[in-house]
Amino acid sequence: MTEPRDLSRLLRQHRELESFFAGDFTLRSRPVSADACEAKDSRRLLEAIAEEVRACRKCQIGSTRLNAVPGEGNPKARLVFVGEAPGADEDQQGRPFVGRAGQLLTRMIAAIGLRREDVFICNTLKCRPPENRDPRPDEIWNCLPYLKRQLAILRPEVIVALGSHAARTLLETDTAIGKLRGHFHEYRFSDADRPAKVMPTYHPAYLLRNYSYENRQRVWEDLQKVADALGLQLPQGGRQAGPS
Ligand code: URA
Repeated sequence: MTEPRDLSRLLRQHRELESFFAGDFTLRSRPVSADACEAKDSRRLLEAIAEEVRACRKCQIGSTRLNAVPGEGNPKARLVFVGEAPGADEDQQGRPFVGRAGQLLTRMIAAIGLRREDVFICNTLKCRPPENRDPRPDEIWNCLPYLKRQLAILRPEVIVALGSHAARTLLETDTAIGKLRGHFHEYRFSDADRPAKVMPTYHPAYLLRNYSYENRQRVWEDLQKVADALGLQLPQGGRQAGPS
């Protein structure tokens, strides 16, 4: 006897076959409802991490911050940007990359034809170090599990590591950013999963301080490689354009 579950599977296969031969090739893609469910799950899991981050007091900067900055964006993002740590503006608003460096990052994202809502943006440290000093090793160590869990939920195809702290932390290396940038590295979520491609590039704040033609050219080359890896169509102006 056919079990009810088998029956519904047979019916579904029949419907899919029918629509396939009727010229509806959409069955090759995943059902929209499955995508929507996954996005909802990821959003919920990411929000749970954000709540933990807001309650976190593992480091002293957990007490000096105004707001924790867990990160934000599309729970189904194929592309994740990881920065260093929140600055004064981010600390005020509890959102990543909203100051001057953030405005440049937004233009970098637009240059490859995406919007901030399409990607996920977060930092290596979730709290602002006072006076924007460099993150300390113990702070990175304390905060790293949050970033790793965010990445394990998102499982993006590409991660852009903005600046040396993000790149060195993700790639577990001491190599200078100037050597790391310009080509893809790997980040493993687990032994089983396909690794993400990591493109280290200069931090937008560094770029603002060193706004030379050569540096902009380097960052734009890195972003074009990211766009290529994701199969993105560059907006009007194309490969000559870049972020202004
Ligand atoms: N710099 C960073 O690294 N992260 C931010 O969120 C803002 C500035």
